[in-house]
Amino acid sequence: MDTIFSKIINREIPADIIYEDDLVLAFLDITPVNQGHTLVIPKKPFTNIFDGNPEVLAHMMKVAQKVGQALMQEKLADGINLVMNNGEAAGQEVFHAHLHVVPRITGDNAYSKPKRASCTPEDFLAVKTKMVAALAR
Ligand code: AMP
Repeated sequence: MDTIFSKIINREIPADIIYEDDLVLAFLDITPVNQGHTLVIPKKPFTNIFDGNPEVLAHMMKVAQKVGQALMQEKLADGINLVMNNGEAAGQEVFHAHLHVVPRITGDNAYSKPKRASCTPEDFLAVKTKMVAALAR
């Protein structure tokens, strides 16, 4: 599995790398929502949350916490969104897993409110039944 992010890991193309350890790399997104928008990626590629090693995913979250704290300390953010697009239907464009750390500035209106589905009590019950069974497997 080779994407543009492998080229960044291998230093074949430039990126603004802000953090690196044995498991992950963090670099600035090339089309930031706000300045400081960072991507945290695993060095050993996997596609997304569905095939990722849970320990590596947990480490990505730890590094996202450090990046978020740094963005707040440096006054590059008033808050942050953590976003992970998993699968084409969810808007994933680069199929090498990545966690977006998106700095938000008060009043930036960077994201519109998501649409909401209408669910009847029967819908909730049907979904709950399926999910409880699936999670117990
Ligand atoms: P996603 O829609 O979650 O797959 O997002 C992919 C992200 O990768 C986008 O926000 C892009 O701006 C970002 N991106 C793509 N190529 C590069 C690159 N060479 N350097 C930094 N960020 C990139």
